[in-house]
Amino acid sequence: MAVIPAGQPGLDVKQSWDAMGMRANCANTLLLDCRIPIQNCVGGPGGGMTRLTHSLPALILGLAAASLGIARAAQSFANDHVMRRKLAPTGQPLAAFQGVRLHVADMATTVHTARLSLLHGAFTAETDQLEALPALNMTKYICNKAAIAVADTAMQVTGGHGFLRANPLERHYRDARAGAVMGANLDALRDMIGKAALGLDPRSDTITAPTGENRPTSGKRQRSRLREDYLTGRLT
Ligand SMILES: Cc1cc2nc3c(=O)[nH]c(=O)nc-3n(C[C@H](O)[C@H](O)[C@H](O)COP(=O)(O)OP(=O)(O)OC[C@H]3O[C@@H](n4cnc5c(N)ncnc54)[C@H](O)[C@@H]3O)c2cc1C
Repeated sequence: MAVIPAGQPGLDVKQSWDAMGMRANCANTLLLDCRIPIQNCVGGPGGGMTRLTHSLPALILGLAAASLGIARAAQSFANDHVMRRKLAPTGQPLAAFQGVRLHVADMATTVHTARLSLLHGAFTAETDQLEALPALNMTKYICNKAAIAVADTAMQVTGGHGFLRANPLERHYRDARAGAVMGANLDALRDMIGKAALGLDPRSDTITAPTGENRPTSGKRQRSRLREDYLTGRLT
């Protein structure tokens, strides 16, 4: 992992990234045909992955927080809209419909749940970074799913208004989808969460005999082995 100044001779950035959502972010292809000063290598030559591994909790929390922010923005837009949009012939706002309020309740509880999960993930990460990994995976999963669900519900209750490009909801709707594919994607997260729940090795899909000496490593032993790998940079 290295920091390379823009305009460095031999560095070619292919502007190939044109994404549907989170468009301020990019992951362009880099073609590199130059030498990089050793002081530009983050963590020293070959040390980048260890640094990256150690900042994993912050990275996961950051991505989860971005999704929670999207969920809250979509919820806020929808709540505001259903209070202001009045329908003929009664002149009552959309919020006068119980069916609309049920959607509002779904958004509120989903955001609340995601927020609690994020707070818990942050608390656990501060207390014990490694113990936090399974909890953080769940946090990202919950927040990613919350953003998609809330943006979708908000799109429903705001009707054609939410669908207009002039309104921010269409951006929240597109942005929400990005969180689910950005590493670790939702399916990989589910797999890791399932393995953690069963006390299995997160790096292996093979399960040894379920009883006797070769039974799967207990959650406690598994975590202690993971801690060792984590601290020595072997866990990637
Ligand atoms: C908005 C945005 C910003 C990004 N920014 C960056 C960035 O800054 N830096 C960077 O390096 N990359 C970035 N990426 C790229 C992103 O990290 C990749 O999209 C991601 O690594 C997944 O790779 P992929 O798209 O090739 O999907 P694939 O790896 O091909 O996965 C496709 C699908 O296969 C399934 N799948 C894959 N792996 C597993 C697994 N282990 N278990 C179960 N199912 C699985 C899932 O359904 C997954 O969605 C960004 C992506 C987005 C959308």
